[in-house]
Amino acid sequence: MSQTVFALASPIGGAIAIMRISGPDSRALLERIFTGSIEHRRVSYGRIIDEAGETVDTCTAVFYKAPGSYTGEDSAEVFIHGSYAVALRLAEIVEKTGLASPAQPGEFTKRAYLNGKMDLAQAEAVMDIIASSAERSRRAAANQMEGRLSAVIGAMYKRLSSVSALIAAAMDDETGETEADEGTVCGELDSISSELLSLADGGMRARVLREGARIAIIGSPNVGKSSLLNALIMRERAIVTPIPGTTRDTVEEAASIEGVPVIFIDTAGIRETADEVEKIGVERSLREMESAELVLWLVEGSRKMEAEDEEIRRGLDVQKTLVVITKNDLEQVVFPDEEGKLCGVPAMTVSSLTGEGLNELRTGIARRLVPAEEEALVTNSRHVAALQRAGGAVETASSLYGEGLTDAAFFELRTAMEALSEITGREDPAEDVVNEIFSRFCIGK
Ligand code: GDP
Repeated sequence: MSQTVFALASPIGGAIAIMRISGPDSRALLERIFTGSIEHRRVSYGRIIDEAGETVDTCTAVFYKAPGSYTGEDSAEVFIHGSYAVALRLAEIVEKTGLASPAQPGEFTKRAYLNGKMDLAQAEAVMDIIASSAERSRRAAANQMEGRLSAVIGAMYKRLSSVSALIAAAMDDETGETEADEGTVCGELDSISSELLSLADGGMRARVLREGARIAIIGSPNVGKSSLLNALIMRERAIVTPIPGTTRDTVEEAASIEGVPVIFIDTAGIRETADEVEKIGVERSLREMESAELVLWLVEGSRKMEAEDEEIRRGLDVQKTLVVITKNDLEQVVFPDEEGKLCGVPAMTVSSLTGEGLNELRTGIARRLVPAEEEALVTNSRHVAALQRAGGAVETASSLYGEGLTDAAFFELRTAMEALSEITGREDPAEDVVNEIFSRFCIGK
């Protein structure tokens, strides 16, 4: 039987602070410290009293009878006034009853998982929701918590389990008359592996939803990098100066673009230079470009492209680059072609001074970074890794089966199922395949 635990479930400093209690002694504890009535899911008003019966605060409290609570255990929530003194005193009184001890981080959600209230993917989503820094990542985590990921994984798992059972039956069948014909098995395996791998792929891109995408802002000195950064995040963090090459180091800024968390990196102007300090900056710029998910290459619209711009273009990874033609408010000499591209890279025109084109740029950035909502099902790197492992194992299983290596294929499928069950923390592959096999037997056999 688990211990009863308690924790403050809200930051202190607001109007109200919440203490959460969970475990078998929740009711006894509440009776000891709270004067109001205690009924399942009823809010009641009363006083918090200390050992001597002195009133500490007036408050409301709710009791939840197991299993009708977040954790699945008897639980309570006490809403006190949000003062430090009151919250600390309440914690002291609760601990002194000897009925409960302080909760570990994540303990309430862990208990909810252990009591079958949610699976591992859902529990992790709760943590992600608490930590999510922008609206899009909050939505992806919310979907996951509602069990969408679990449902998709569950369906894949079932299909794998069916194929495993087919193969297992074929291994045992000495007559050779089995339903596990090669074309069907391999076809199904190939389809499962490509679905798993594409889920993982979507997840890799969607990871930016949680961790934030790194966006490097590059371009020759004075094209307007710092100004654009400031305009995009509407702050004066980067120092704007009219002297070329003054952005010596990189400046990093966390921001939210259309709900996508991003980290902008304003790199030093990339150019060959004898200046040692600036050289270090240039090297760093190139490195930042490598580690970035998206590169904004700035080209000045009001002057012809120079050798310097050309040099930068050669160092670019075109696949992850967006061209930004700057200073649109001045007379323009650089234009995108009829396909909307410059040097083969999609281009947008903006003015940091007037703000023209900035909204389109924001939308363009968000679209490049985030896959369609539907793909954003997997946002957790542990899940991405498990999906990749599962997809790889199924791929191997298919080619092994094609070569007639039935036992080895069966083993690979088991590995894949284990990887999937790591995501939800629920199924037991060994047992499930056995059940599936027996479910195919006729009654009376
Ligand atoms: P960086 O060296 O690439 O970071 O460029 P800065 O942002 O420091 O800008 C260089 C110069 O260009 C400054 O004098 C800015 O005021 C000017 N500038 C930047 N953006 C614009 C713009 O959109 N329009 C105009 N007219 N000037 C701009």
